[in-house]
Amino acid sequence: MTNHILLVEPAYYSKFPPIGLLKLSAYHKTKGDTTELIAFEKKDQRIPKKTPQKIYVTSLFSWAWKPVWEAVSFYKKEFPKSEVWLGGIYSSLLPDHANLSGADRIYQGLCSHAENILPDYDLVPEWDGSIIFSSRGCCNKCDFCAVPRLEGKMNSLKKSIQPFVLDRHSKIIFFDNNFLANKYRMDIFKELIDFDKKVDFNQGIDAKLITEPVAKMIASLKLDSTIRLAYDSHDQQKFVKRAVERLLAVGIKKRDIFVYTLFNYRETPDEFLNRVREILNWGTVCYPMRYESLFTIEKNSYVSPNWDAQKIELVQRARRVIGYGGAFPAYQGLVDKFNNASGFQEAFELYEEKKNGAKK
Ligand code: SF4
Repeated sequence: MTNHILLVEPAYYSKFPPIGLLKLSAYHKTKGDTTELIAFEKKDQRIPKKTPQKIYVTSLFSWAWKPVWEAVSFYKKEFPKSEVWLGGIYSSLLPDHANLSGADRIYQGLCSHAENILPDYDLVPEWDGSIIFSSRGCCNKCDFCAVPRLEGKMNSLKKSIQPFVLDRHSKIIFFDNNFLANKYRMDIFKELIDFDKKVDFNQGIDAKLITEPVAKMIASLKLDSTIRLAYDSHDQQKFVKRAVERLLAVGIKKRDIFVYTLFNYRETPDEFLNRVREILNWGTVCYPMRYESLFTIEKNSYVSPNWDAQKIELVQRARRVIGYGGAFPAYQGLVDKFNNASGFQEAFELYEEKKNGAKK
C-alpha cells in the first residue's frame, strides 16, 4: 500500500530549503509513496492535495518553537487520523518540551535511513544549489555548540560527493560542521575543481586545519561566498592569524574573509574588544555573534555574568549603525575608532551617545 506523505516546514525564516524533509521525501518515494512539501507560512497553501497518512514537521533553533507548535496543532486538527512526527534540531535538543506540542512522535537525531540519499529537489524546482553533508559531527567539542550533542564525533565521511550533486544546480553548498576534518577533503577538493560549479562552505571552516595545501585548494575554487572562520576565544589567536595569513598568501582578499567573533560568553567585554581589534587590524571582516544558550526557548534572553544588557545592546547597535550587514569591515575609520578607544565602552558607543554623555 502506498501512502501520501506530507512534509511541513513551519513558518520561521530560513534561507535554505528544508533539506531533511527533502531527504525523507526521496526515501519515501523509493518505497512508492507520494510526497508533498508545504511551506506553512503560505496560508492559502496549507491544505495538501490529498489526505496524508503521515505528516513530518521539521524544526530549527529551540527558540523558534512557537511556529513549530502552530504547524503541529494545525495538522492534528485537520487530519486527526494521520500520524504527526516532529523532528529536527529543536525536537532533538528539547524532546520533553517538543512532546507538549501535541505531535504523535518526537524524533531525536538524524534519520539514518534517509541520510545517504539525494534529496528530492523536484519539490523545490526554483532552488539552485546541491546541499551536501560530506561528513557529520565534529572533531572538536566547543561547549557552546549543539553539534557534539546532536551528531557526536566525526562520522559518515564521504570520499566522493558525486552522487549528491544535481547537474542542473549551479552551486554546491556544504553543510558540514567541520568540512576540513573529513580525511577525504583533498579528494573532494579535486572533485570540486572538476565540477566547476560555485562552492559555499556554509558552516565555515576550521582555522586550525587550514594548511598551505588546503589554502591553495580553496583559492582554486569558484567561491560563491566569503570564507568564514571563527575566533571564539583568545586561545585560538595563533591558529586564526595563521589561517588568515595562509589564505591571503594564496590570493584570497581580506574583505572576503569573515571572522565570526563570539561574545556574551565567558570573556569580558574588553577581551572581546581585543579580538575585534585583531581581526580588523588583519584587514579581515569581524562578524560578532551573540552567545545564545542551546536550550533557550526565548531568543536573546541570556546575559553572561561578565556582560549586562546595556553592553550587549552597545555591540548590537554599533553593528546596526556603523557596521555593514551586521559586520564590521576593516574600513579605516572603524579600525581607528576601535584602536584608539580607551576600552570597551568608548569603542562601541556611537558618536551621538558620546556627545550626549559629555553634556551630562
Ligand atoms: S568546531 Fe564548530 S562545529 Fe565543531 S564543536 Fe566547535 S563550534 Fe561546533
